[in-house]
Amino acid sequence: MTNKQERLKTLPAMDQLLLATDADTRFDDCPRKVVLDALRTAVEALRKEILSDNTPDTGDDAVLTRAAGIAAERMKNRLIPLINATGVVLHTNLGRALLCQDALDNIRTVSAAYSNLELNLATGKRGIRYAAIEELICELTGAESAMAVNNNAGAVLLTLNTIAQGTEVVVSRGELVEIGGSFRVPDVMTKSGCCLKEVGTTNRTHLRDYEGAINAHTGLFLKVHTSNYKIEGFTAEVSLADMVALGREKGIPVMEDLGSGTLIDFGPYGLPAEPVVSERVATGADVVTFSGDKLLGGPQAGIIVGKKQTLDKIRANPMTRALRIDKLTLAALESTLKLYRDEAAAVAKIPTLKMLTMDYDTVSGKAENIFKALEPAIGDSADLALADMESRPGGGSYPDLRLPTRCVTLRPKHMSVTALEKALRAATPPVMGRIEDDRFIMDPRTIQAGQEDLLVTTLTTLLNTQRDTKRNTK
Ligand SMILES: *Cc1c(COP(=O)(O)O)cnc(C)c1O
Repeated sequence: MTNKQERLKTLPAMDQLLLATDADTRFDDCPRKVVLDALRTAVEALRKEILSDNTPDTGDDAVLTRAAGIAAERMKNRLIPLINATGVVLHTNLGRALLCQDALDNIRTVSAAYSNLELNLATGKRGIRYAAIEELICELTGAESAMAVNNNAGAVLLTLNTIAQGTEVVVSRGELVEIGGSFRVPDVMTKSGCCLKEVGTTNRTHLRDYEGAINAHTGLFLKVHTSNYKIEGFTAEVSLADMVALGREKGIPVMEDLGSGTLIDFGPYGLPAEPVVSERVATGADVVTFSGDKLLGGPQAGIIVGKKQTLDKIRANPMTRALRIDKLTLAALESTLKLYRDEAAAVAKIPTLKMLTMDYDTVSGKAENIFKALEPAIGDSADLALADMESRPGGGSYPDLRLPTRCVTLRPKHMSVTALEKALRAATPPVMGRIEDDRFIMDPRTIQAGQEDLLVTTLTTLLNTQRDTKRNTK
């Protein structure tokens, strides 16, 4: 009998362990399945350690502690809230738009009870899912008709498939964009059954290019808003209005994919002009698509507005069913859109708008509050400062947007700044910031009310623990 086999025999029996978990509060919230699985995993790990000649503690307590750790890990949510200190308001990796309170309340109200999702209460007959928002979107954009699908990528795919399948779609070479997450205009075109007809050059496209591309197969003029990059210098693009005029003359419909369409003009808030949906609709374009969770600040959705005739065709496309939005989205979208009837209310209550229009003094005040709370708490464990910087609140989707901001910056004294950044990502809640010039930068623009205290506690605990560990090992 080898030493290994002797040691394997010391592993406690499952029945015995399972019985012990009954009285162990660490397993209180775990379903039996999870407890069993954690115990098996723990015992299996010990068995492997013994077989590779280690001498782990195989006592009941040691095994239970291991299992409790495994069970706790399995019980954790994988999708969790975090503190966004990057200053990037439209952050695709961090969940894009935060919903306004009205939207959150309405999701709760509508989803906790049965609803008239597809019932016309006046007639008692089957109703249309999009009825809740169609009038509202039309009111806000001036469009004849409107609907919403899962996201804007879906809206583009569905619209192209409905009105241009089997035809040539004319697009400027300067607008063949790729959006993050592998959405590429040429690929979407192929998937929707259309044939891409590129015209012009990367930097310059003229109306005569569109005109010259027309043949018997031409089915659509498509304009794509290049919302995530900018071509500068010697450039020329054809306005939507000119495309519409040419389309009318030649009997060719015109579509615009706006990407991040906005319902308000950002100009008065000192932000670069972004196309406002109502202005695009007013050009007479047949159909315009845009995102619900970019500049609009609502739930993930793709909104389609335009001529009734075109929208009717889209509603009749079987693909619509596959891309339909659910009642949670509908509830959130209705509440968010309603706020746009009063621009001041929209800017005050929709988090995306509030953060994008936040002035320097407000950001600066937030930065100072965080600084004042951190300074005494972290003592000598980091070099702390306030710095005027520029935030790029658009991330990948608002390329030239830069806003003056005031950041809290720190350089830890007992760990590297990269180690700090990594530890903050692993914290509860995780804190996302950025590193610049060997300092950790936190932009308060995107830190939500109520998160400041959490941020201060998380940072303090981390920095002070690191300092004390260093001291004790000296
Ligand atoms: C963002 C974007 C899309 C995709 O929108 P999602 O809502 O992310 O699906 C499509 N086209 C353009 C021009 C965009 O900017």
